[in-house]
Amino acid sequence: MLQRRLIIRHALVALAFVALFLLLNRPEVIVISRLGSVVWYPATGLALALVLGISPWYGVLVCFADALAGTLIYKQPVTSLSGTAGAAAVAGFYAAAAYVLRGPLQIDLGLRRRRDVVFYVAVTTTAALASTAVGVACLIADHMIHWPERWSAASMWFLGDEIGLLGVAPFLLVHVFPWVRRQLSSRLAEVPLHQQNSEAKRSLLWPILELSGQASALLALLWIMFGPAFGRDELYFLSFIPIIWMAMRQGIRRVVTGLLALNFGIVVALHFFPLTSSMLPKIGLLMFVVSAAGLVVGSAVTERHRMALELLERTSELLVANTQLVASTRKAEEASQAKSEFLANMSHEIRTPINGILGMAELVLDTQLNPEQRDYLVMLKSSGDSLLGVIDDILDFSKVESGKLDLDPIEFNLQDAIGEMMRALALRADEKGLELAYQIDPQIPEYVVGDPGRLRQVLVNLVGNAIKFTPRGEVVVRVQMDSRSDRELELHFTVADTGIGIPREKQSLIFEAFAQADGSTTRHYGGTGLGLAISSRLAALMEGQIRVESVVGQGSTFHFTARFGIAAAEPAPQLRTHPAELLNLSVLVVDDNATNRRILLEITRGWGMRSAAVENGNAALDAMRQAESNGTRFRLVIIDSRMPGMTGFELAEQIKQDRRLCRELGISAYLPKPIRKSELLSAVLTVLGQGSENRAPYLVTKYTSRDASRKLRILVAEDNPVNQTVVVSMLQKMGHQSTIAHNGREALSMLEASPFDLVFMDVQMPEMDGLTASRKIRDQEKNTGSHIPIVAMTAHAMKGDKERCLEAGMDGYIAKPVTSHGIEDTITSMFHTEPKVPILSSMPNLPPSSSPWDPAKALEQVDGDELLLRELLQIFLDEIPPQLANLQQAIETVDPETVERTAHTLRGELSCLGLTDAARKAGELERMGQQGVVEKADELFTALKDELSAASSAMRDMLQARPVDP
Ligand code: ADP
Repeated sequence: MLQRRLIIRHALVALAFVALFLLLNRPEVIVISRLGSVVWYPATGLALALVLGISPWYGVLVCFADALAGTLIYKQPVTSLSGTAGAAAVAGFYAAAAYVLRGPLQIDLGLRRRRDVVFYVAVTTTAALASTAVGVACLIADHMIHWPERWSAASMWFLGDEIGLLGVAPFLLVHVFPWVRRQLSSRLAEVPLHQQNSEAKRSLLWPILELSGQASALLALLWIMFGPAFGRDELYFLSFIPIIWMAMRQGIRRVVTGLLALNFGIVVALHFFPLTSSMLPKIGLLMFVVSAAGLVVGSAVTERHRMALELLERTSELLVANTQLVASTRKAEEASQAKSEFLANMSHEIRTPINGILGMAELVLDTQLNPEQRDYLVMLKSSGDSLLGVIDDILDFSKVESGKLDLDPIEFNLQDAIGEMMRALALRADEKGLELAYQIDPQIPEYVVGDPGRLRQVLVNLVGNAIKFTPRGEVVVRVQMDSRSDRELELHFTVADTGIGIPREKQSLIFEAFAQADGSTTRHYGGTGLGLAISSRLAALMEGQIRVESVVGQGSTFHFTARFGIAAAEPAPQLRTHPAELLNLSVLVVDDNATNRRILLEITRGWGMRSAAVENGNAALDAMRQAESNGTRFRLVIIDSRMPGMTGFELAEQIKQDRRLCRELGISAYLPKPIRKSELLSAVLTVLGQGSENRAPYLVTKYTSRDASRKLRILVAEDNPVNQTVVVSMLQKMGHQSTIAHNGREALSMLEASPFDLVFMDVQMPEMDGLTASRKIRDQEKNTGSHIPIVAMTAHAMKGDKERCLEAGMDGYIAKPVTSHGIEDTITSMFHTEPKVPILSSMPNLPPSSSPWDPAKALEQVDGDELLLRELLQIFLDEIPPQLANLQQAIETVDPETVERTAHTLRGELSCLGLTDAARKAGELERMGQQGVVEKADELFTALKDELSAASSAMRDMLQARPVDP
């Protein structure tokens, strides 16, 4: 059916073509009869448009039409050469040209590119030359022209064809044949998109005006060229004007129409205003050149337009793509936000019940239990701890994955941070019988700027692994300074163990997520394989890196570097003041572990002590006896409790029994390993200072030296009953008095009703949450001028929580699950409890001493050791003037921090020498410094200075009056 319709359409096209071809061959169209000459030959244009626009096969039809025209119009005999071979050759040349243009050259039939027009002109001109040659030869053979006329006939033939090819065919190709092709196509008609777009929305007024302008210009031009007024001037070059106008403005589509109009116009004009026949080739040439130029310019402009249009299309495509990209980025951001919120919630949801489990287990462990129950409970607690560790690892790892793991830098005490971390791990090391020790390069400033939590996380992982993978021997942590500039320092941490080691080929693998050196270790040692992956990411965040050196069977050393800022107010390490009472004090270290011995020696020597070390009990007894006989008795012995052969306790017992060695009772202080430098210092100072005030020596433990022994009234705002019990019981055990508020609102009214020293505030509570409650408390305090410390307790462990708490006016932050340790540390840091504070805080109640300095009391203070007292006095007299000068300057320049620091040092020295009243004054100055109000310190300082100058002269008197025998 379709096929038949197509055949009919093709037949109709063929018929129309033949009819039109014959029509265009009419003498009126091509020949100025009066001149007897051909001006142009539009039929060739029609023929070429057919073979190019539809198919080269239509060349057969062209041949037939040509022969028919020859017979019917030019009255050639049917058998003439022109009507047979000539017609066939001409049709063949144009069909071949069409084939070349459509096939190998692949021109766009709409002639929208300059390249296509150039090819079109070149190929059709070649075909025209060939057909001119053959056609003229046939005319001569048929005796239709004579030999001498051959050139004029050829030029007329060629120009006539060319005008048809350039002036008529392009119009048909651009405007007519797309439609014809659609009619002949079996597919649905497709209208090119850009035509719709470019022509759709424009206003019509200007195009119509311009079109009329162009048409008028053409008519005017024809009149000027051929009319009676200017005809003789031969102003033919003017024909370029309207053609170039059209080409430049509207491109190929308009210019082909213009060319057709111009060419027809010329023919029509020639009818009205005939020229001499000698002018005709000139006109023919003009039509040819104008047509070619118009086509090339038009196609170039169209190409430009097309490119601009394509650019526009690409731009709009890009815009669409961009909008989609923005939308998907936003979606991704929302998804990641949702993920981190999910993480926060998950962390909260999981931590809250674990908080209950661990807290309760801790409480029950402190009650009376039979061994079996205790065992079960210990297992329960340790499983809970590991579960918490795994959850933390997974949460951290998802943060690493989503790039959300970042640092929270603050100023912190590096030594304390490491000390606390080591202490937390000591129990595990102790259970395995491992020595755990650490050493910090004394050149490293005490305070640095970094993220203590993340540093701790890396170290806990490395040290935890070292303990886990070391069956016997030691784990030693060392911190060295790799480099230091004005504002930064690079620290180098090493964690060395004597454990199972890691095979060389696995050493880089273990830093990847979920990787373990040996699959079977999972069962033996447990672990997720995430720790080192997180640690190495954290190290990178701290601008450092992690690597390992290891020998299987001998142990591993993990190296980890990190950059820290230097705290602004940090005094240079060499200026750090050590308590004067430790200077030149002789101390004996007894420890079987060489690393520990070395560390303790370095610490004590760093304080100016004269230290010696031995490796077992017997050697210690020998050394002590030797010293005694030399008159250089050890004032202090630091003993490792667990030693092969004679244990520490046995050694202490033996020392105690030997009255020569020990006048007082044995062990005065007890500290867990690994020893924290600051704890050792406070223990030593407490032991040395306790003699006079309390004749019956008491045992100094880490708690004695750290505990404020101040009983606090604490408000616990918490809605969860399990957590309430956990926190309150822990506080009770520490001797504090606590009261519960079930929500923020209750907390507010309780605070109004009675005084409290501290508030532990849960963040999420019904009715009023912790953040709102804290804001309200701070608002109310604006009127009273007071400030109660508020510590947030939250199961949220995500970044940003801390900031939100601090923003709401809270002073500190403690993550759930809370441990008694955490609570204790928080209280300590909130109330700045220093070892000697409790002794001093009771001083204002003491009756002021009548004399500024009491030599007897001072001697008592140093255990009757005259030599030591003399040394101390000498140091004191040397030290006191610069210290007083410092203090005075700090008061004058209103520098509370220096006032606090200097007064603190001074207070220690004064109380050590029995200057209780002066120590009290120094204590008050210290408090003023602490509270930042030193404006009124002048008076107190003068009183202190007077008292000290009186005391100093008394001291000098004593030194002179009682010279000590060498
Ligand atoms: P986890 O310890 O949870 O398995 P880590 O990422 O912390 O994950 O450690 C990966 C692996 O590296 C461990 O499973 C172990 O095989 C190996 N490894 C880490 N530290 C040590 C060490 N000190 N001694 C021996 N092997 C170690």
